[in-house]
Amino acid sequence: MRESLGELKLNTVCVEAQCPNIGECWNGGGGAGGEGDGIATATIMVLGDTCTRGCRFCAVKTSNKPLPPDPMEPLNTALAVASWGVDYVVLTSVDRDDLPDGGSGHFAQTVRALKELKPGILVECLTSDFRGDLEAVSSLADSNLDVFAHDIETVRSLQRIVRDPRAGYEQSLAVLKHAKICKEGMITKSSIMLGLGETDEEVKQAMIDLRAVGVDILTLGQYLQPTEKYLTVREYVTPEKFQFWKEYGESLGFCYVASGPLVRSSYRAGELFVENLVR
Ligand code: SF4
Ligand code: SF4
Repeated sequence: MRESLGELKLNTVCVEAQCPNIGECWNGGGGAGGEGDGIATATIMVLGDTCTRGCRFCAVKTSNKPLPPDPMEPLNTALAVASWGVDYVVLTSVDRDDLPDGGSGHFAQTVRALKELKPGILVECLTSDFRGDLEAVSSLADSNLDVFAHDIETVRSLQRIVRDPRAGYEQSLAVLKHAKICKEGMITKSSIMLGLGETDEEVKQAMIDLRAVGVDILTLGQYLQPTEKYLTVREYVTPEKFQFWKEYGESLGFCYVASGPLVRSSYRAGELFVENLVR
């Protein structure tokens, strides 16, 4: 996988972010020892490495005018992924406010190419909010993807502090709601970071709000400060508390909740999806 990534100029978030879960995800749940016999997951970043936004928790490069998307990327991504043994791929991207459709067409082309080359593969798209453009959401939902994911990131009161001002709690909820209703059977997913100063009541409310717009899958993880330029960690949440949130989320009716200090939006995504929604 590492070799073909380099040859085809693709970025996996797994490698770029030096994600500590790579052993578990790429081996399909067997852990770094490589004994996995579950569903292997990889996360690929499309639409370049430069974001038009600047959230205060995220160390990605930013610019108002990133390079245009590579027109060969949808096909190259599909070719690479089809040649690996992964059964579940997460496509994600930076935000592309500079593109008229926010990049939804590029995402959709990639999904279509993947499904054509490897029909059995499950595809999750972890997208931006497309500036609240619901047509962009619908056109991506029509591409035959399996899971539409968009992260609300934090509780309502901290949105302005944590996220770029162009993002927002209501806008993210509207995107998730539309993705759920515009395509029958669509599975939706979101994620919350903990440790930014949120209260328990606010976390509960965010989870209730996500369920109210039909979100099926939730992940919760610890916020970690990328460098000293970014927001400081206000609290290291204990594993017991993460377990509490998992149980609380399940009591609200999420199909599954992945919750733990190192959990990221795509953590063991394929394995958990198949365990909870297919079997
Ligand atoms: Fe890759 Fe996501 Fe797993 Fe990290 S959590 S290894 S980024 S799929
Ligand atoms: Fe990072 Fe996404 Fe915010 Fe861009 S929009 S700065 S990629 S979190």
